[in-house]
Amino acid sequence: MVRVALVNMNYYRSQSGRALLDIEPVHLLAMHNICRRAGHDSRIFQNGLHPLGDVRRYRPQVLGLSFIGHSPEAIADARALVRSLPTPKPMLLLGGTDIRQYCGEYQTAFSQYYPYSTAEGLRPMAIMVQGPGEHLVQALADHEFDFSPAFDQLSRVCRKKIGHHWVGPGMLVDGNVYILDELSGIPLNDQLFERDYDLAQYGHSAQVKWEDGCSARCDFCCNVAGRIDYVSPERAVAETRALIAQGAKKIRITGANFTARPREATAIIQALVDNFSDSGVVFDFESRVDTLFAAVNLAPETWRRFCRLLHHIELGVEAFLPSRLTRLGKYNHRHDPQARAEEQPAQVEFLLQFFSGTGTHIIFFLINFDWQMTFNEAEREGAIMLDLLQRFPWTMRLLADNIFSVLHYSPGSRLAETMSPIDYFRFQDPRLLLLALYLKAKGAQLDKDSTESISFVHLINGRILAELYCQALKVINTLPKDSFDLAAALDHKTVSHKTLKRLARQLGFWRGRRLLAELDQIFNRLWANKKALTKEFAVRMLEERLPAIPESQSLKDAFMQVLRNRGLL
Ligand code: SF4
Repeated sequence: MVRVALVNMNYYRSQSGRALLDIEPVHLLAMHNICRRAGHDSRIFQNGLHPLGDVRRYRPQVLGLSFIGHSPEAIADARALVRSLPTPKPMLLLGGTDIRQYCGEYQTAFSQYYPYSTAEGLRPMAIMVQGPGEHLVQALADHEFDFSPAFDQLSRVCRKKIGHHWVGPGMLVDGNVYILDELSGIPLNDQLFERDYDLAQYGHSAQVKWEDGCSARCDFCCNVAGRIDYVSPERAVAETRALIAQGAKKIRITGANFTARPREATAIIQALVDNFSDSGVVFDFESRVDTLFAAVNLAPETWRRFCRLLHHIELGVEAFLPSRLTRLGKYNHRHDPQARAEEQPAQVEFLLQFFSGTGTHIIFFLINFDWQMTFNEAEREGAIMLDLLQRFPWTMRLLADNIFSVLHYSPGSRLAETMSPIDYFRFQDPRLLLLALYLKAKGAQLDKDSTESISFVHLINGRILAELYCQALKVINTLPKDSFDLAAALDHKTVSHKTLKRLARQLGFWRGRRLLAELDQIFNRLWANKKALTKEFAVRMLEERLPAIPESQSLKDAFMQVLRNRGLL
C-alpha cells in the first residue's frame, strides 16, 4: 500500500484579496478513488484550507500537485512543500491545466529536487502530465507506482490513430523529470464519484464533473477544441442522491459549457427535475449564450420546471455589440461567424425574458474592455448593460469584476500567438484604459467594504459600478484622446493602480487630480445611495421575487430578519 497525497495548489481570491477556499477540488476525485480502489491510502488536500504541514505529517510516498491556473504564489507554496519533505523525496506528479502552458517554468521549479541519480537509485522522480491524469494514476496505482510497467500499460491504453499509425503518449525525459503528453481521459461516466470526506469543509457545496470539453475556439481563450463528454442522466442522478445524503446544499456542475450539447444537457436537467424538485438543492453551471438558447428551446417545459428554484447560470456573454463579438472571435467555430454574432443580442433578450420571474438568475460574464474598442462602442455597451440591469433586476447579475474586465493574455489562445501580455493594454483610445483601471480600483473598494451577508450584495455592487461606468464615460469624454502617452504609462511592463496614477499625471498635476476627484464625486454619490438602493431592492425582493420561489416562506423569514438586524425595516 502506497500513501498518496493529492494537493490542489490554487485557490481563488476575491478582488480585495480574500481567499475563497470553499470550493471542492473535484478534479482530483477520480484519481483519489482510483488509488483507493487499487488498495492504496489516498487523501485530498486543498492548499489554504488544509495547512501544508498536514501534507508533511501524512508523509506521502507519492505527491500529486495540481495547478489549474498560473499563480507564482501556488508554485512557491508547492516548492516550499517539496523542499520540506525528507529525502528521498516522494514521487512527484505535476498536473493541471497550467502545466501545458508553463511546462518549462515548472520543470525549472522542481527539477533540482529530482536529480538523475540519488543514493536510493532512480525511483524518486517527477512526472509532469500535460492533459488528463486519470490514466496515468490508474497505471501507476496498478503497478505499485513503478513507472516502467505503468508506462507500458499507459502506452497501450492511450494509443490513438494519427494518419495510418497508432501512436502512444509522447514522453520527454530530462534527467529524472518525465514529461508526458497526449494522454486521453477516462470517460466521465466511468469515473468514480464516491467521497470519503466531509462536505461541511466546503460549506456543504459540491462540484460534479458531468460535462467536459468545449468545441468553440474563441480567439481569447486557451481552450483546445476537442471531444465533448457527458455523464448519463442516470449517473447524474446517482451522484446527486449520494451528495444529498452527505449533506450537499449546492451543486456546481463543472465544465466550460454545460450546454455544449443542448440535447444531452437537457436530458440531465430533465432527470434532475424528475428526481430532485423538492430537495431544495440548487445547481449552478456555466454556459454559452447560443447553446443555452438552443437547449431551452429544445424542451422549454423541462427548463421552466427546473428554473423555479434558486439556481445560477454563469453565462458567457462577453459583449453586447455584434461588432465586438466578431472581433473577439467568439463564433469562429460556427458557419458565418458574423451572422451568429448578430443573433446573440436577441438570444440574450430571450433568455432574460425566459428566466425572469423564476428563482434562477443569470450571472453575465463580460469582457467590457478590449484594446481595439472605440469610445462609441463603450458608450453603447454601457447603455445596453444598464438598460438590461434595470429591466431584469433579479434575473441579470453582474459581478463587479466583470464590469471592469479587460481582455487579457491567455497563454495558448490564438491571440497570444502574436501578442504579449502588455499588448492587451495598448488601447487605441487610452481614455478607456484609464476608465477600466479606475473602475477596478473602485471595485476592490466595494468588495472590501461589503460586509453584508445577504445574497444580493453583488447585485447592488454590480449596479453601482455599472452606473459609474456610464457616468464616468461622460466625464472622460471631455478629455482629448491624445492627452495620453500610453507607451510611457506602460513602460513598467505590468499594469496596476500605479498605471492609473501615471495616466492621470500625464494630464498635468492639477488637471489629473481634478479628474480623479470628479470621478470620486460620482462614485461617492452612488455609494452614498447604497442604503436606499438596498432598501429598494429589499422591498421589491419581498413583493415581487420571493412569491415566485417555492421555498419562499422560510427565505422570507430569514431575509426579513437580516433586514431588521441592519435597521432597514
Ligand atoms: S471562452 Fe468558453 S466557449 Fe469560448 S472557447 Fe473558451 S471555453 Fe469555449
